[in-house]
Order: sequence, then structure tokens, then C-alpha cells
Amino acid sequence: MPQPRGPRIPRRRHAIRRIYEVLLAAFGRQHWWPADSAAEIIVGAILTQNTAWTNVERAIARLKQAGLISFARLRDIHEEELADCIRPAGTFRVKARRIQAFVNWLYTNYGGDLRAMFATDGSVLRRHLLAVPGIGPETTDAILLYAGGFPTFVVDAYTQRIGRRHFLIDPDSDYDETKGVFETAMRPDAKVYGEFHALLVALGKRHCGKVARCDGCPLQHLAHDAGR
Ligand code: SF4
Repeated sequence: MPQPRGPRIPRRRHAIRRIYEVLLAAFGRQHWWPADSAAEIIVGAILTQNTAWTNVERAIARLKQAGLISFARLRDIHEEELADCIRPAGTFRVKARRIQAFVNWLYTNYGGDLRAMFATDGSVLRRHLLAVPGIGPETTDAILLYAGGFPTFVVDAYTQRIGRRHFLIDPDSDYDETKGVFETAMRPDAKVYGEFHALLVALGKRHCGKVARCDGCPLQHLAHDAGR
């Protein structure tokens, strides 16, 4: 894994831990991932690619109504039918293909058994998931963290933006560098990683969008540059 760059590590570690504490105090626990089962988390992690969560919720509701939060059903259903069902999530044909790519991979390698999949060593499983078509690093880490309970940090656009603006990462840091920065700062605890990611998403939605709304932001008193 590439070594994180940027400000000196102890100062950055302190800043990241402080941000976690401040956000937790300001927003409280986020109770992520909002789902009834590991299968629903995995399907949701694919559906949420490049779309708002409200659209995912509508697609998940339709899948539930059709009895499709089941890997056996998702394997057997025709791709067109699945695409139509998840239409509210956007790019539905691509996402139907990706869901079925994952499900086929799960059956080929683990006989469709999630418990067997999650019994695999975390770093090996991460590497294998990244090789499934349409399953990128953010989706992989969301699956591992929220469905599998592995301590792996999920990086999204909000994490990158907040990290940049608070001098935690370099402006050109990539996914793995940002992930390394947060994992170096926090003890490897899936509950903490899951909470932290959810808090950063909440912060991004409420304050740290493309245009920063620093007034009233819980982090406004910490060192930042909203122009970064
Ligand atoms: S809105 Fe401003 S203070 Fe809040 S996280 Fe973004 S840059 Fe920091």
C-alpha cells in the first residue's frame, strides 16, 4: 500500500481523531449501513454507485417487494427484468449486470454462501472482489466493512474532499493513499470505521459539498481551507 503523504503523521493522526470525536458529538451515531441483511448491504453498495441514497432506497423497496433480496433469485432472474426492477437507482442496466456479475462470482467461488466468502482472509478477499467486473474499491470496502465486519476504511468523494480541505491528504491523493491515511490514524475497528465513514457522509451532505458551507459546520474551528 502506498505510504500516505502530507503533513507530519502525528499531527495528522491527531487531526483525524479530533474530527471523529467532534463529528460523533455533533451528529451522534448514524446506525449504518441501513439494511436488514448482508445481502441487502451488498446489493445496496452496488446500487449506490453514482447516485443519491434516496434512489437506492426506492430500488431496494422494489427488490424487496419482488422477493429479490436473495442471491438465488438474483442469479436466476433475467438481466432485463432485474434492470427494470432497479430502474430508480439510475444506470440500471449497468447495475443489473454488476449485481449479477457479483452473484455469479459468489456462486462460482463460494457456492452462493456469504459466510464462506467472509471466512476468507480479508486482504485476499479484497483483492478477489476488486477483480469482479464493476466492483471498484469503494464498493469492495463497503461490502467488506458493513456486510463482513472487516476493519477496512471506505473512501468516497466526501472523504477525499474533507480530507483535502482539512490538510489530511494531498490534493492529488488517490483512493489507496486516503484510505491509508485514515487507517493509520484510527485503530482497526470495524465499528469505528463504519461510524466514521457514515459521519463523513453526513458532514458532506450537510456542509462540505462542492461549495463549502463552513458557517455552522462542526469542523469550522479546526484548520481548513475550503478552497482546496
Ligand atoms: S464545510 Fe468547511 S469547516 Fe466544514 S468540513 Fe467543509 S471545509 Fe471543513
